[in-house]
Amino acid sequence: MRIPTATTQHYLHSIIVGERLKKNEFCRDYVEFLATYIQADKRPYSFEQHRPLLEIAQRLPQLREVWVLKGAQVGLSTLAVGWCLYLALTKGYSVGYALPTKVFARRFLKTRFKGVIAGNALLKEAVRTTENVGLMTVAAAGRDGRPGTSHLYMLGMENITDAISIPLDALAFDEVDVLNQENMAWADDRIAASDFRQKLYFSVGMNPGLGMDAGYQATSQRVWVVRCPACGKDGQVLEELFPECVRRVGGAWERTCVGCGKPLAVQESGRWLARHPDRDVEGYRVPQLIIPGVSLDYIMGRWEQARRRRSLLAKFRSSTLALPDAGERQRITADILARVLDVYPVQVTAEWSVGGADVGDTCHVAFADFQGGQPDSQRLRFIRLETVPSDRMVPQLSDLITAMGCRCFVIDAKPFRTEARRLARLHPDVVVLQYFKGQAFGISTETHDGHTYRTVSEQREDSLDAYCDLFDPERRGVLFPRYLGGGDFLDSEVAAHHLKGSQKVETLDARLGKNVPRFRKALENHYLMACNNARKALVLLAGGQGPGGAGVLPVFGGL
Ligand SMILES: [Zn+2]
Repeated sequence: MRIPTATTQHYLHSIIVGERLKKNEFCRDYVEFLATYIQADKRPYSFEQHRPLLEIAQRLPQLREVWVLKGAQVGLSTLAVGWCLYLALTKGYSVGYALPTKVFARRFLKTRFKGVIAGNALLKEAVRTTENVGLMTVAAAGRDGRPGTSHLYMLGMENITDAISIPLDALAFDEVDVLNQENMAWADDRIAASDFRQKLYFSVGMNPGLGMDAGYQATSQRVWVVRCPACGKDGQVLEELFPECVRRVGGAWERTCVGCGKPLAVQESGRWLARHPDRDVEGYRVPQLIIPGVSLDYIMGRWEQARRRRSLLAKFRSSTLALPDAGERQRITADILARVLDVYPVQVTAEWSVGGADVGDTCHVAFADFQGGQPDSQRLRFIRLETVPSDRMVPQLSDLITAMGCRCFVIDAKPFRTEARRLARLHPDVVVLQYFKGQAFGISTETHDGHTYRTVSEQREDSLDAYCDLFDPERRGVLFPRYLGGGDFLDSEVAAHHLKGSQKVETLDARLGKNVPRFRKALENHYLMACNNARKALVLLAGGQGPGGAGVLPVFGGL
């Protein structure tokens, strides 16, 4: 193996495993290994109060990639700590254990790993932990090159571009909710040379459609389903039925059947069911509700506080129910989207529409017409949502503008300004180039090479806020088709881009010198941006700036 360089030493801690022991002194079976060597709360690890985790533990040796979307404190970290030690001790594998930051990693090594190791004499003899600059020892051991030495690295993911280039056999990601493309590529590179190549992701998800949640959504999506022994009602997924599935029975909280109200034996009468059994990557969702090791009194106590406050409710849903919820940071949620759907056909031609395009390697295009009438029933109704490859964007967008009877079309001026201008020359009365800049909504022109182009500019935050305001449940200022591309709208890319793109994160505002919530950047939000451009097109039209004029929109305002 390669030796970590001086510059990488700050980012990892190491545990050296198995120096003096032959591999086969430890149990070969992982579940047996856990029960024999691993302690949790000063007792041998047991599945008695964590039975849903047993199947995960039994299948781990066969899985190449697994995502566990979990509630807090369901016992998975201990399972994973045990797994990493097992791989290093019995298989001779090098393993990385990744946590959000290096401070977090250092603390985790000191508490969790060392706690587990100290609890067993054989582990204590076999595993040497080195902290802080303990890496000198790692290097020495590596040069020595004795067989039977394997390594376990604690990694802080906040600075992954500077992180190690050591080849690994397996990587475990703990509490790493937001994993960006860079992290993913890094992980794949680290394990590429191994024949085992395992990636294990387990975390609470706080960001719908991103990181852990996105990873889990792409898997087999196993959920724990319970069958009522009294009435036979099957398929009860407790986290989705909460709070109806918990009641007081004889003074104590019990999980109860939503059919007959009788208590449920969550472990004995439950099983894992894959919602997408055809997918290669396995995923499990482990809410606190299915783990009797987490007390219902504790869960219901938190629920009492959470039900009154949106911010606490989001936290409760994410960390107790394992249903990621960004709370007020999420402008458009799946619930909100479900309320702006209606059954109507998508259209390939139209008499009248406005349109918008988000431009990248693939252009995302949205056309909408308008449901007018009383001010409180005015809606932007999306009738066509398409993608167009950027190398054919000018002719294809031009055809779409014509077919859809488009009166105003707002397109990003960047990154393909030449193409956007060419489209504007084909439809000079329709196409407007869009910039995110300035403060207020501004309409202007720009001249290049003898041609004049109409432009619209708006501050990014205000613009996206104005679009998200249209989704307010009271207002329902937008409509989307319930069925799109042969499937449910909520499963579509259009919906996914709205969920991802409408999230805010705390961002440092250099001018104000403090953190303020801002819409996330650099993520898959293309349809949200395209639809927002269609909104701007309608604003331009309503202001009489386009050839359609204000007369097309008899009553209009506020978009
Ligand atoms: Zn029942």
